[in-house]
Amino acid sequence: MPTAFTQKYSEDSSGGMLRFSFYCDICRKEYVSPLARMPDEQGLFQKWKTQKAYNMAFEEAQREAKEHFSCCPICNRWVCDECFRVLPNMDICKECSEKLGEGEKDYGNL
Ligand SMILES: [Zn+2]
Ligand SMILES: [Zn+2]
Repeated sequence: MPTAFTQKYSEDSSGGMLRFSFYCDICRKEYVSPLARMPDEQGLFQKWKTQKAYNMAFEEAQREAKEHFSCCPICNRWVCDECFRVLPNMDICKECSEKLGEGEKDYGNL
């Protein structure tokens, strides 16, 4: 299994089609990538071709998914828009903003 940019992901393949789901590192909200077609050739190179197509589909799915997630510069986790806070000085995830915000200003309404 390749390593994804999120802590959790899953794959779903059926009928020669392959797609991946990536999950927000905080709330586990799911992003499902578009379906990618896998080669259905038979023969000597089938395994190699399938592996290559799989890797390409995975890269493509990650590229797509990254546009729906944001990386927190403090904890390096990838989180969905709902778990991401755009603060005046820094864009960070909600858990880090809560930690930083203890006893300080409340950024909750921004
Ligand atoms: Zn989330
Ligand atoms: Zn964070």
